[in-house]
Formats: sequence, structure tokens, C-alpha cells
Amino acid sequence: MTQVQPDVRIRELRKLIDQYSYEYHVQDAPSVPDAVYDSLFGELKQLELEHPELVTADSPTQRVGNELKDGFQKVAHSARMLSLNDVFDVDEVRAWVTRMDKLLPGSAHEFFADIKMDGLACALIYQDGMLVQAVTRGDSYVGEDVTNNVRTIKNVPLRLRQLEGFETFLTGRTEIRGEIVMLKDDFTALNLARKAAGEQAFANPRNLAAGTIRQLDPRLVAARPLHFRGYDVLREDAGDVPTNMFAYEAMTALGITRNHEASVFTSIDDAMRFVEHIGEVREKLAFTTDGLVIKVNDRAQFSKLGVVGKQPRAAVAYKYAAEQATTIVKDIVISIGRTGAATPVAVFDPVVVAGTTVQHASLHNADEIERKDIRIGDTVIIFKAGDIIPQVESVVRELRPDHTERFDYQQALAQQYPELEFERTGKDVVYRVKGASGDLMLKRSVEYYASKSALDIDTLGEKNVVALVDAGLVKSVADIYRLTVEDLLKLDRFADISAKKLISAIQAKKNPKLEKFILGLGIRHVGAQTAIDLATAYHSIDALKLATIDELEKIDGIGKVVAESIVAWLSDEDNLALLDAFEEYDVRPHYEQKTGKLSGQSFVVTGSLETLSRDQAADAVRARGGVFQTSVAKDTTYLVSGGKVGASKLKKAQSYGTKIIDEQKFIDLLR
Ligand code: NAD
Repeated sequence: MTQVQPDVRIRELRKLIDQYSYEYHVQDAPSVPDAVYDSLFGELKQLELEHPELVTADSPTQRVGNELKDGFQKVAHSARMLSLNDVFDVDEVRAWVTRMDKLLPGSAHEFFADIKMDGLACALIYQDGMLVQAVTRGDSYVGEDVTNNVRTIKNVPLRLRQLEGFETFLTGRTEIRGEIVMLKDDFTALNLARKAAGEQAFANPRNLAAGTIRQLDPRLVAARPLHFRGYDVLREDAGDVPTNMFAYEAMTALGITRNHEASVFTSIDDAMRFVEHIGEVREKLAFTTDGLVIKVNDRAQFSKLGVVGKQPRAAVAYKYAAEQATTIVKDIVISIGRTGAATPVAVFDPVVVAGTTVQHASLHNADEIERKDIRIGDTVIIFKAGDIIPQVESVVRELRPDHTERFDYQQALAQQYPELEFERTGKDVVYRVKGASGDLMLKRSVEYYASKSALDIDTLGEKNVVALVDAGLVKSVADIYRLTVEDLLKLDRFADISAKKLISAIQAKKNPKLEKFILGLGIRHVGAQTAIDLATAYHSIDALKLATIDELEKIDGIGKVVAESIVAWLSDEDNLALLDAFEEYDVRPHYEQKTGKLSGQSFVVTGSLETLSRDQAADAVRARGGVFQTSVAKDTTYLVSGGKVGASKLKKAQSYGTKIIDEQKFIDLLR
């Protein structure tokens, strides 16, 4: 495939992320969903982590927000308005806690968590209790003065309330930081009114809120219902606000709206339970949110932990699983179903979407690839609504590498299946194997499954298979397990004895060896040896279903083509339904741990042996519980040489500590 150099990829990602940031932060009109932005941003962060020499000061990973809009006075913040590091699962949360523990050994943290509101950050500055200024986050150092607009927001107090115990906040400077949002109900009502007036509806509440607050005309702002919720209180004397929870209590006392869900937790497990709970109720919240903010509660600890880049070390933004993500198409492989239909499957770099790792998606047919113009090397947006199968939504054209070519489906068919011919008839969108009229492929599959090298089902040969399929008794390979003696007796070919014989032969193979079963599935490029290797590596079909290409390629003897073919087979819906059907008929392949005098030892044979063929040598090793490999790897115990060993093999064996033995010594080991 088209491999893009990291420096080129980093450059392209930065350019696009800057563009998206500009649309989002300055124009308040994003062109892609946040999940797509987050995914590309995550890839950039990862690449910069792997190539620290390529990090530059102007990288989007090093900056907060974006340029400031003209027309507003610029105001420097008393303390930077930072952004937060995103975390996506409990492991990342734990890693964050571990990092803090290393920096502040021995100190127990209390955690404070609040819902992360999806709006625009704003600082309200009160002098002796009176609102004097409101400033946007801007580029974190300098923001825009939006005081006149903010004064129109009804729940922003122009004067702080007085409540006993919180008088300190009414003298000197008190800064309240929070989020300006548009509540979902207000947003819906506004859009309904616009529709009724024949105006275009707004796309989403966050961008409407951000766009509104940065309008130059306060009358227009007043006509749109905005809402403020605080999340922080700053005082010149930091001792006035000892904990984040205290800041929230102060806000309530001062008349500032804040989320009442915000709470303190003594362990990260409790905080995670809160994350789960909010995840369940978040659709019902008054505003939109994509996650939570978790912070260290104690503010002295918080400031001791400091800032890295643009993020405080003592806080993270936990983001709920997104239903979209971006990834790169590594290849497009074609799988042939039991009806002879060719289905293209895109193989990706593994990526997490809606909480599960995705590494392939069906592209359905040639027209679909053509319509979306999906090419090998492209960055694509994939989506998964709920637990539905992943799909490619579209290509991120801006990230297309140079010199990619349109995917030529017919050429790919010819390359991947040189022995077959394909045709596409009438209005059919699918290419099918020529001549595979009706059930030819099915017959071949059943025959192969029952053949000697696979399940070895007695008397289920070609003629019986043809009769069963033609009679409509077998519609998928798994259907053979559903057959009854009565079914067979309906056919001329069977008499009582032969029918019983076939049924008992089939039923006797309900607990096949895993490797025989894998072989019987007829996955392209998976022969007897690969089937054994897969069984040895995965021990069950369920585990094999989760195999990734990278993992498969690490297995001795499995290369890219074979790995992709396995993954493509396992991503075909028909094949998954077949595996389910086997399970339903109680077919339980089992893995037998091989033990014997050679167990735990692995062998490679080079050159030709005098007394044994290579296959005989392999069988002999396996029969004694050993592993037979095709080339020397880290775990190879013996290299058996039939003659002189080549220089490169010798070097490899020496570097891995593999013992080199001759044929006689090998025979001795077998005895
Ligand atoms: P962030 O993820 O770094 O979070 C920090 C911000 O969270 C704070 O500034 C604050 O305003 C806000 N916040 C809300 N509730 C809070 C609470 N309870 N406590 C503390 N802080 C709270 O946010 P960011 O730096 O503004 O920008 C990143 C976000 O913008 C991402 O969600 C990203 O998806 C989105 N974005 C999208 C696009 C796009 O094209 N779609 C482009 C750029 C950025």
C-alpha cells in the first residue's frame, strides 16, 4: 500500500486540523463532527509522541483555541485559560492517576468530577461584587471582551449575592469561569420559530452559543436565549478557595448557576461509577455534553502538579465513546461468499469506534467503492451507530496521499482470484463467480468441509452433497448437522441403512479438532499448516474472530496476504452467520493441547533430509507435541540442517541462540 512518511503525514494532519479549528473556533461553523476532529488530533498526538523531533511550537497540539475575532477588545487573562487532556477509557484514567502519584508520592488525592458542558468558555470578572468584565478564552492568554453581550444573559448576576460565610468574595477581585451554553429546549424552540418564519435552522447548540456571544450587536444576542454555568472561582489569594468543591459551594452562595451533579470522590473507582451514571443519563441533561471533567479536588495539590503544554496535569476530560473515528485503509480484499458473490472488504489500522476495536468493514460492492472513491492509503471516516456493523462513511480527501489510484475492482478480482472468472448481469450490483449458477459454490464448500483433510465425514462425498443441495435440504454448510434420517429417505439415493450411516457419520463430527474445523471453513490461503498454526495461537473460534492483522502476521508462516484473507473472511456477514449456525447446531470444535517429548520445542528444517520428506518431518515433530516452523524465529529451538546452512540462516540462528543439529541428531530426538 501507499505508505506515507511520518513527517508528511504530520504536516498534512496539522494543516487540516488548523483548518477545522479555524472553522470551529473562529467561524463557529465546523465542517466535521467533533469525533472526526478528535480522532485526527489523537493521531497527530500519537505521531508526535513517536517522533518528538518533529514537534513544533505551532503544532495544534501545542495551542489552545485559535486566532481572535476582530471587532472585540483584547483582554489578557489573569491566569491562562487552559484546555484539558482527553482520556477515553478507564485505563487512561488510571494511567493519569499513576502519573500524578509519581509526581506527588505519598499524597492521597480526592477527585472532583463535573459534567463537561459543550459550549464556549468565558471568564466573568467581579470587582467588589459587581460584574465589570466578561472575557472569552481566546488563545488561552488573551481573550475577547464580550461584556456587553454577556450582560444580556439572564442567569449571569450583575451583582453577586451576599451569603454568610462567603463575604470575602464580595471584596476585591473574584473571577468566575464557566461555560456559556444554549440549553437544548431553548435551541429546539428557537429552531421551530425560525422554521415557521421560513428561516434556516441552526446546526447545533454549541456553535450557535459561540457564534451568538461573539456577535457585535448585543440586541441580537439578547434575542437568543443563552445560559451560563460556572466551573471555577479564582481569587488573588489562592487560599480563599482551598478545594474545587468549595469553589462550587461558593458559586451557589454567590448566585452563580452550576451543575448540582458535581461531586467529590475518595477513589477513582467511585469517580468512574459517576462517569458511568452520567453516561446513562446524559441524553436527558438540559445541555449537550460529550464527557466529564475529573480534577484533583485539593487546589494546593492541583497547582503543585503544574501544567504541561496547554493542559494542567491535575485534570482530564473523560470523553464518552464516539460513534465515529478516522483510520487509514491498508488494503481492500475481496471475499467470495457461498453464492459466489464477491464482497470487497476494507482493511484498516485498528481503531476504536463506539467502544470496540474495528479493523475492517464491508464496502458492499464495486459501485459503492466507486461512488465514495475509496482508495488504498486513504484516510476514511468510519461510523458505528449503537452496536451495528461498522461502515465507511466517507473519505477525508485532504489527507489523500499523492499517487493513489482509483480502486480497479475488476483488476483486483483478477489479481486476487486468478483461477476464477467473474460476471455482473443485468442490474445486479454484485460481481459473481461465472458459472457459479445456483449452488455451485455451496456444493464445493460442503464437499470441502466433509473432505478427508478437513472434517473427514464418511460417505458425504460429491454425489451425496449434490443431491442434498439440489433437494434444498442443505442451504449452508452448517445445515448438514440439521439433517435427519427422514429427510434423507425422501431422496431416491438413500435407503434406511445408507441414510442412518450418513447421519451418524455427520453427528460423529460435532466435536472436531479446532484445526480441522478451521481448515473446513475453506478460508482462502488457509491450508492445513496455517489451520494448525491458527488453532495453536488462538485455541478457539471466538478468540480467532478478534484476531488483528498485525497479530496474525506475527505467527510464523503467516504473511500479509494470508492475514488479510483471514480477517476478510471473518468480516463477511454471511460467514459470521455461518459460524453462528454451527454454534446453534451445537458443533463445538475443540483445541487439544499437544503434549509429548518435544512439547515446548520448535524445529526448522533447511535443505533436504535423506530419510524423511519435509512433510514427514513436520508430522513427526507435531505428533510428539513439538512445533514445526518454516523459518527461524526468536523461539526456534533447533535448526535441522540437511547439508550446508546458508550464511543468513546461520547468522539468524546464532543471534537467537537456536541450536543447529544434523539429521542423525534429529532422528535421535524423535526416538
Ligand atoms: P477541551 O476539550 O480542551 O476542554 C476544556 C474546556 O472544557 C474548558 O475550556 C471549558 O470551557 C470546558 N468545560 C466545560 N465544562 C467544564 C467543566 N465542568 N469543568 C471544566 N471545564 C469545562 O476543549 P477545547 O480546547 O475547547 O476544544 C476541544 C474541543 O473542541 C473538542 O471537543 C473538539 O472536538 C472540539 N473541536 C471541534 C472541531 C471540529 O471541527 N469539529 C474543531 C476544533 C475543536
